[in-house]
Amino acid sequence: MLVKDLAEMLEVSTNEIIMKLIAQGVFANVNQVIDYKVSSAVATEMGFEPTEAAPAPTASAAKTEMVSQPVKGAVQTPRSIRPPVVTVMGHVDHGKTSLLDAIRKTKVAAGEAGGITQHIGAYQVETTDGRPVTFLDTPGHEAFTAMRARGARVTDVAVIVVAADDGVMPQTIEAIDHARAAQVPILVALNKIDKENANPDFVKNQLAEHNVIIEEYGGDVVMAPVSAKKGIGIEELLEMVLLVADVQDLSANAEGHAVGTVLEARVDKNAGILANLLVQDGTLKIGDIIVIGTRSGKVRAMFDDTGARIKSAGPSTPVSVLAMSEVPDAGDQFNMVADERAARTLIEQHRQEAASANAVVTLDTLYTQMQQGKVKELNLLLKSDVQGSMDALHQVLSKVGTEQLKVRLIHEAVGNISEADVHLASASGAIIIGFNVKPDGAALRLAQNEHVDIRFYDVIYKLVDDIEAALNGLLEPVYKEVVEGHGEILQTFKSGKTVIGGTRVTDGKLSRSAMVRVMRAGKEVYSGTISSLKRGKDDAREVATGFECGLTLEDFNELQVGDIIETSVKVRV
Ligand code: GDP
Repeated sequence: MLVKDLAEMLEVSTNEIIMKLIAQGVFANVNQVIDYKVSSAVATEMGFEPTEAAPAPTASAAKTEMVSQPVKGAVQTPRSIRPPVVTVMGHVDHGKTSLLDAIRKTKVAAGEAGGITQHIGAYQVETTDGRPVTFLDTPGHEAFTAMRARGARVTDVAVIVVAADDGVMPQTIEAIDHARAAQVPILVALNKIDKENANPDFVKNQLAEHNVIIEEYGGDVVMAPVSAKKGIGIEELLEMVLLVADVQDLSANAEGHAVGTVLEARVDKNAGILANLLVQDGTLKIGDIIVIGTRSGKVRAMFDDTGARIKSAGPSTPVSVLAMSEVPDAGDQFNMVADERAARTLIEQHRQEAASANAVVTLDTLYTQMQQGKVKELNLLLKSDVQGSMDALHQVLSKVGTEQLKVRLIHEAVGNISEADVHLASASGAIIIGFNVKPDGAALRLAQNEHVDIRFYDVIYKLVDDIEAALNGLLEPVYKEVVEGHGEILQTFKSGKTVIGGTRVTDGKLSRSAMVRVMRAGKEVYSGTISSLKRGKDDAREVATGFECGLTLEDFNELQVGDIIETSVKVRV
């Protein structure tokens, strides 16, 4: 069957299928046919149980049938349960670090050999009934969203720590919004219940005001009262994490090729580059080849969170590996591949993806993106100077939006625009609106790198006008053509049917990507693009004034000596 038909049948993206194929050493594009052996191997790896359909009567009939009708018999089998991965978030000083320590300690108390833990970005503990839970030990929503901005989805449950003596604070709300934007379920750990001035009811009400309704109040958010300091309620918290996780049916295929995320990486003076990875699917083994971005490496040694050497690591297991020759970035994905050739192909694919990964939302291009079906929702992140204008903005912005394009406020808070805001906007494809506020320098730089659109306003109606104009396509960018340079054809050569123009650049420059007009005796005889541009034997990106080059034009083989070439580019006004 065709690769794209297999993708459609399994309801996954063609990219996912191609990646799986590469991992198996098969190189096929979406329109290529793969045989039953290969397609069933991919399907099995993705958790399906394929059976071969009876061959259709004739070859041509078989072809159409295969393409238009899904083969019957591919049934998804339940994959095995994997442990949940938890991130702890909340306001500063509410006890995130203490809670992570307390949870880790319960494990050591339960008799872990040696108890010498090493920091590998995450650790795993077991509940009383022996079920493992993985905790990421970089607490906070900043790290969580920075990872997500890099495309990594590692968290299954967000534990929001709220100090019972302090209540809901600005970063509590941020944490809630960040978890929600990522569609990760929330569990509230009501910490510091040992304190005399702890006031649980007050906190529960505050949470309700922010739309976090706990079960006791008729909502669906689980709350666990704990004291990280005194070690109270830790086991119960773990049980509740499992409860929240079980609703999500977290599963993985332990037999498959390992896939996961880089949690952090560092250079160890003695060992070399240690990459701390979270295996998310499949099993990673010593000797496996992994690809991270545009680098590959062979797993030479692997350690678990207690520092013990291990030979393999299954789904949701954090491991520290010696494999890479360059330090990868936190949030990068790793993929295990079958061999060096598969590694090279995947690296090439990553290169191409990196080059074309610019699908960002801006107010200017919103309408076009909406028409192309690329966006269906306009996500806004709102920062303003005072609560009063915040409320007013909330009011008016809740009313804008159309059937085709809904406006959603993913986070609103008083204060300047921070790096965490930019990460959240980047991870959620949101535009940041700053009302009477400024970004800090770091946030601006990050926004530039991540291509996040930040808009500043000081009048509400202007903001609403702009949003409405964007929704109706009135803010589409305007381009104008700017002439880049001229050249003169000095000689022509024939290569088969193609006519090559030996050209001297008379002013400006000729760039390979420019639009071209050919003028002959003052009249335009061609307009189009360059199909090749060479200096001597080498391809050139651009050729400057005074230099000569060989030029061929797309679908035009009538260049003559004396023709004038005019190149231009589109520039946004
Ligand atoms: P983080 O900033 O959220 O990581 O907070 P920390 O874990 O650093 O804790 C901040 C402070 O609160 C520290 O002084 C802790 O000792 C204290 N603390 C944390 N948990 C508890 C608790 O359950 N009870 C009490 N009384 N103090 C706590």
